[in-house]
Amino acid sequence: MTGRFPSPRSSDRARPDVAVVGAGPIGLAIAWRCAARGLRVAVHDPAPGSGASAVAAGMLSPVAEAYFGERQLTGLLLASAARWPEFAAELAEATGAEIGYRTEGTLMVGLTSDDLAEARRLWAYQQGLGLPVTPLRPSELRDREPALAPRVRGGALAPTDHQVDPRLLVPALRTAAQRAGAVLVPQAVHHLSDVDARITVVAAGCGAAALTSLPVRPVKGQILRLRAPDGGAPGFRHVIRGYADGEPVYLVPRADGEVVLGATVEERPDTTVTAGAVQRLLRAGVDLLPELAEYDLVEAIAGLRPGTPDNAPILGPLPGRPDVLAATGHHRHGIVLTPITADLIADLVLTGVPDPLLAPFGPERFPAGATAGSGAAGSGAAGSGGPEPTMEGDRWS
Ligand SMILES: Cc1cc2nc3c(=O)[nH]c(=O)nc-3n(C[C@H](O)[C@H](O)[C@H](O)COP(=O)(O)OP(=O)(O)OC[C@H]3O[C@@H](n4cnc5c(N)ncnc54)[C@H](O)[C@@H]3O)c2cc1C
Repeated sequence: MTGRFPSPRSSDRARPDVAVVGAGPIGLAIAWRCAARGLRVAVHDPAPGSGASAVAAGMLSPVAEAYFGERQLTGLLLASAARWPEFAAELAEATGAEIGYRTEGTLMVGLTSDDLAEARRLWAYQQGLGLPVTPLRPSELRDREPALAPRVRGGALAPTDHQVDPRLLVPALRTAAQRAGAVLVPQAVHHLSDVDARITVVAAGCGAAALTSLPVRPVKGQILRLRAPDGGAPGFRHVIRGYADGEPVYLVPRADGEVVLGATVEERPDTTVTAGAVQRLLRAGVDLLPELAEYDLVEAIAGLRPGTPDNAPILGPLPGRPDVLAATGHHRHGIVLTPITADLIADLVLTGVPDPLLAPFGPERFPAGATAGSGAAGSGAAGSGGPEPTMEGDRWS
């Protein structure tokens, strides 16, 4: 190891080079990348894969989720999405596992004329960034997805926004990490001082707040899973996301017949499922795709996204602690950001030199004592690309 990081001592032979706290997609992918490059890696987690990824939809949507006021985050999302094809191929080669990676693209739709006007405002912003968003007439929409409701007023295609199944991805990452030599320690870490390794990577999702002073807060998301009748495939192939009477909603079809319908965005730390949320999600989903009314409702669940004050992840050494790296705060984007987070953090562990891509996302952007509370990007923050309005409350995720 070079750079600023502590170098190994000859007596340290059994000591891990890297301890990763958290075995969600972020921690496991970092562990895989580090172990594959010859480092001794221990991953600490009493319940691997039990965090936000256990409920996540798995949309890889840098284009549809390019929001006002988040240009630097959008850049990171695009860079990570561009790594996904190779990442998925490497994971398949390392494990032979199927992870539900699908590339049919995403249709963005508006049910009413008000919904369409709202959506068009965002598409114009996304097109202004040079992103691939192709407006479609209602007839063109229905040519692509005949199951859409006749009431849907219009839409646009984001062909490069793909999907993966997080419930398949995380076990595959675990297998890849273990095959590369990473060791899983099935225990929680309560204090960073309990971890014995040259470098500690905090990838504990919402658990990062208790271990560090970082402003990571839980952002609740309720989500439903349905199944097409008689074990068949869903009657649509694209990820469909849109507004239905002002309600943001998305539908993610899986090859095995599952449809993920989500999700609420709530500033609450509990994981209860509420009747009102289920009603709202089902109404919006059925309004866009009437055939959903005939599907089996198989699961209603809630998870906690690791949110940050500017909606962007926190990546890099803690101030004054070059031996502790944060890889947390991925909020609504942890699945799409898995490849780039793993590569950049593994590079940092190995070389001690941060990639320039990390610069806007370091922990130091939050002064000590910053609160975890929600908030739009402040000037100069990672989510901020300039004096644009924010659209909190109008998001899908
Ligand atoms: C409803 C919903 C929908 C979503 N949809 C998408 C989507 O479509 N696309 C997308 O990119 N993202 C999506 N996300 C976000 C995504 O799930 C998260 O950003 C991602 O899971 C973060 O990964 P992580 O590994 O950092 O954290 P997590 O997945 O939360 O995993 C954290 C792990 O750390 C462990 N841990 C916590 N504390 C400790 C401790 N003290 N010691 C040891 N281990 C600990 C936990 O047991 C857990 O296994 C969604 C999230 C939700 C809730």
